[in-house]
Amino acid sequence: MTRGKLSATPVACATGVGTAPAGQPAALRIDVFTIFPEVVDSYCTISIVGRARREGLVDLRIHDLRSGATDPHHTVDDAPFGGGAGMVLAPEPVFAAVELVDPPRPLYLLTPGGRRFDQNVASELAGLAPAASGSWTPAFSLLCGRYEGVDQRIADHLVDGELSIGDFVLAGGELAALAVVEATVRLVPGVLGNASSAGDESFTTGLLEYPQYTRPAVFRGWEVPEVLRGGDHRRVERWRRAAALWRTLELRPDLLDARGGLSPVEVRLLAEHGYPLDAYGTGVAERSDTESGNRQTAGDPPDRLEERDLS
Ligand code: SAH
Repeated sequence: MTRGKLSATPVACATGVGTAPAGQPAALRIDVFTIFPEVVDSYCTISIVGRARREGLVDLRIHDLRSGATDPHHTVDDAPFGGGAGMVLAPEPVFAAVELVDPPRPLYLLTPGGRRFDQNVASELAGLAPAASGSWTPAFSLLCGRYEGVDQRIADHLVDGELSIGDFVLAGGELAALAVVEATVRLVPGVLGNASSAGDESFTTGLLEYPQYTRPAVFRGWEVPEVLRGGDHRRVERWRRAAALWRTLELRPDLLDARGGLSPVEVRLLAEHGYPLDAYGTGVAERSDTESGNRQTAGDPPDRLEERDLS
């Protein structure tokens, strides 16, 4: 793998919001290489990512791939060998742009064929979970392709891995990079206002999140569930747990299967809240509670059930 440094003009970095305050390292550094730095920077100036940058929690640096081009037109693409439609990002400018910056590794190429990006990958990238390699990664970089893609030597010899955001083809890696940046940054401790808000979100617990409601309590005749308006936090927590289980069962049963189905306690919780579990019949896998020594009997007091349900 070629990772030398070049002594040419520095790659232009988008300015404005950006690096952590002097002397205070950000919790996470991300470098993005793109031919549209303004587009990426502009999105990353607003909302949660913008605030995280301004507060120095995230050091996001956006680099223009065209700065690696040496011709007057800053050409980064060329026609494919062997013919065919479209253009391909050429190796010289891309290698040059990356080597000038010597960005944090791993450097990921966004590509439809890459490893599927999901919440677990986001946790890894945010440094909250060990990466597949076993190492913890408080910094990484992203390389956005364009046109028909990139010269294969970029994939083979410049980057450390490839990420895909789904089985569809975009016109460029920018939207994919933004998805990766946003999903990752919001997991960095301190970025979300309420420290617990990332904890019970969809996928984090292996379930989809429970339904959320806000005012008015009645809208066009559709009422917010009474339990949410009552102020009994224990009842609210139990309702949310049941609603999350039910929603996952209906929309993403594969997620439930992946965690071993429903435990007897969860089955009971759903029944208590009036969910028609019978409709799913034997399709619902039953998770054993005995593995973790959590066997419950029908006579268990509700408090103990709840404690474990919500753990
Ligand atoms: N010809 C290529 C697609 C190129 S799309 C192929 O058939 O595989 C142009 C660029 O968009 C890619 O280089 C990549 O950086 C980005 N891209 C497109 N779809 C993507 C996806 N699902 N995930 C991540 N990046 C994607």
